[in-house]
Amino acid sequence: MPLQRQDNNEPRQRFRLVNLILIGVGVLLLLSSFLPRPGMQVPRVPYSLFIDQVSDERVARAYITQDQIRYELKQPVAGEPSLLATTPIFDMDLPQRLERHGVEFAAAPPKRPNVFSTILSWVVPPLIFILVLQFFARRQMGGGQGALSFTRSKAKVYVPDEKSRVTFAEVAGVDEAKQELTEIVDFLKKPQRYAVLGAKIPRGVLLVGPPGTGKTLLSKAVAGEADVPFFIISGSEFVELFVGAGAARVRDLFEQAKKKAPCIIFIDELDAIGKSRSGSMGVVGGNDEREQTLNQLLTEMDGFNASDKPVIVLAATNQPETLDAALLRPGRFDRQVLVDRPDLSGRRTILDIYGKKVKLDPSVDMGNIAAATSGFAGADLANLVNEAALLAARADRKTVIQADLQEAIERVVAGLEKRSRVLAEDEKRIVAYHEVGHAIVGHMVPGGSKVAKISIVPRGMSALGYTLQLPTEDRFLNSKEDLQGQITTLLGGRSAEEIVFGKVTTGAANDLQRATDIAEQMVSTYGMSTVLGPLAYDRQAGNRFLGQTNSPRRSVSDATAQSIDREVRQLVDDSHNHALAILESNRESLELISQKILEKEVIEGEELQTLLNQCKAPEPVQVKGSLAALP
Ligand code: ADP
Repeated sequence: MPLQRQDNNEPRQRFRLVNLILIGVGVLLLLSSFLPRPGMQVPRVPYSLFIDQVSDERVARAYITQDQIRYELKQPVAGEPSLLATTPIFDMDLPQRLERHGVEFAAAPPKRPNVFSTILSWVVPPLIFILVLQFFARRQMGGGQGALSFTRSKAKVYVPDEKSRVTFAEVAGVDEAKQELTEIVDFLKKPQRYAVLGAKIPRGVLLVGPPGTGKTLLSKAVAGEADVPFFIISGSEFVELFVGAGAARVRDLFEQAKKKAPCIIFIDELDAIGKSRSGSMGVVGGNDEREQTLNQLLTEMDGFNASDKPVIVLAATNQPETLDAALLRPGRFDRQVLVDRPDLSGRRTILDIYGKKVKLDPSVDMGNIAAATSGFAGADLANLVNEAALLAARADRKTVIQADLQEAIERVVAGLEKRSRVLAEDEKRIVAYHEVGHAIVGHMVPGGSKVAKISIVPRGMSALGYTLQLPTEDRFLNSKEDLQGQITTLLGGRSAEEIVFGKVTTGAANDLQRATDIAEQMVSTYGMSTVLGPLAYDRQAGNRFLGQTNSPRRSVSDATAQSIDREVRQLVDDSHNHALAILESNRESLELISQKILEKEVIEGEELQTLLNQCKAPEPVQVKGSLAALP
C-alpha cells in the first residue's frame, strides 16, 4: 500500500557531518606529530665529540637550551657543516670548560608558556568528548537506529492521505471479518458516543488466520475508514538479544501512539512475543526477554485510558492456540476475528478487484479461474493476476487472456505446493464425501452438537476440509452415549470413503487419533467399561517439567492391560459399524450433499439443516461388545 511513510533523514546527515569533523581533527593531530620541527635540520653529534671539539678549541660559540646545545665551529673542515647540535647531559662543569677554551656562550631565556597552545590542550579534548556525547544523545532522541537506540520501537507510522487510503472495498472475501471490524471503525470515529454511556471501548482485536489472507490489509482498511494514523510493527521486532529491550520498545511504541491518538497499532506475528508462558516451563527460567516484553504489552494494554482518544491494538497470528491465556482475557485481546481463506464467491470478488488493475481481455471468465483456485489466499490470488500479466507482457500481447491466467495458476500452484493446499479434482471428491460423512453421522448421533457448516476450502495447517459442529448448549458432563456419538462422528469421514470409494486414504489420521483417545479415556479414565469396572487406570496430570502431557498408566497386570486394549478396540469397532450403518441407509443424502458441496465448497445454515433433516436413522443393529451387553 503506497501510504505516506514519515521518515526523517536529518539525523543521518548530522551524523555524517560530525563524523567528518572528528576524522579531520584526528588526521591533523596525527600529521602534526610527524611534521619536522625547526632546528631538526642541524646535524646532531655525540656530546663527547662536542666536548672534544671544545677541548681542541675549535668551537667559536654555543647556544645552550634545555634540550639541545647548538654550536658553531671556528674553521670547519671542507664538507663539514659549521653549525652542529648535540643533546646536553647534566654537566655542572660545562660553563667553566667553555670559558677556559674561549667559547662564547649563551643560554636561552626560560620558556614562556604559550597561552594559545595551553588553551588548546585544555579545551579541545573535553570539547571533542562533549561533542561525541551530544551527538549520540541527539540521535537517541531523533529516532535513529544507532548503538544506543535499541530501546526505540521500530514501528512504522502511516498517515492515510487521500490518494493512498485503503478502504474496506479493497478487501474482499472476508465479509464476516469486515463486519466485525466496522464496529472498531465506529469506536475510532465517534468515541464520545460510547464514552457518554460509560462504555469502555475494546482495546485489542486479534485477527486469526493463515498467512496472506489479508489481515494486514484489513487493519490498514480500518485505519483508512476511520481516518486515523496506523502504527505497524512485527512481534519479532520487539525481541532482542538484550533482556529488557523488547519491553522498552513496547513502552516507546505506546508512548508514540498515545501522542497520535486516536490511532491503531498493528502487531503482526503476535505469537513471537505472546507464546504461552506455561509452554516454556519445561526449561528452567523460561524465556526472560519474551516474557518481559509480553508483560510490558499487557501492562500497557491495561494502562491506557481509552475514553475519548482510543488507541486500539490489532494483532495478527496464525497460531492462536499457542497464545498466552493472559493475552486473551477481557480488556486485552478479547475480540477474535477469523480471517479465513476465501470461498468460491470470495475468490471471485478478489480476482475481480485485481483483474481491474491489469488490462483483461473481455473474453476472460474469472468465475472459471475462481473455481480452479480452491485453497488460494488473497495474496495468492493477487500474485496470480500479476503473474498472468507478466506472462501476457512476455508474449507481447496487449491484454491478459484466459490462457495466461490458467498458466499462472500452474506456476503459482507449483510454487505453493508446500505452503497452501490446492486439491486435485479427485482429491476434492474424496474430501467432500469425507466431510459429508462426518456431517450426516454427526447429525444422527447424540453428543449435544449441531452440524453448522461443511466446507472443503482447505484451511489451517492440516485440514483439507472441515465440518463445524456447534454445541447446542453448554456442557460440562458427557454421558457414555455422547462420547460414543463423538467417536462415531469422527469415524464418519472414513466410513464414507469406504462406502463410496471402497478404499481408504491417509486423510483420516487425525480423526482416528482423536477417536482412539476418546475411547481410551472412556475405558481408563472415566470407568465406563462394564468389563473393567469403575476404576481409573491412568494417573491424572503428568509431570510437566519432564514434558509429559499424557497421563501414565497405573501399574496393571498384563491381563488387565490386554483387557483395556481389547475394550478400546471394541469401542472403536462398534462406533465404526454404527457410522457405516448410518451412512448406508442415507446413501442418497450422502450423494446429494456431496454434489452440492463440490459445486459450492461451503454449505451452512438453513440449507444444510434442510438437507440433513432428510436423513433417517438406520435399522437397529445388534451391537455386540461389552459396553452394550451389560452383564
Ligand atoms: P496477512 O497479513 O494476512 O499475511 P496481507 O494483508 O499482508 O496478509 O496480504 C498481502 C497482500 O495480499 C495484500 O496486500 C493484498 O494485496 C492481498 N490480499 C490478501 N488478502 C486479500 C483480500 N481478502 N482481498 C484483497 N486483497 C488481498
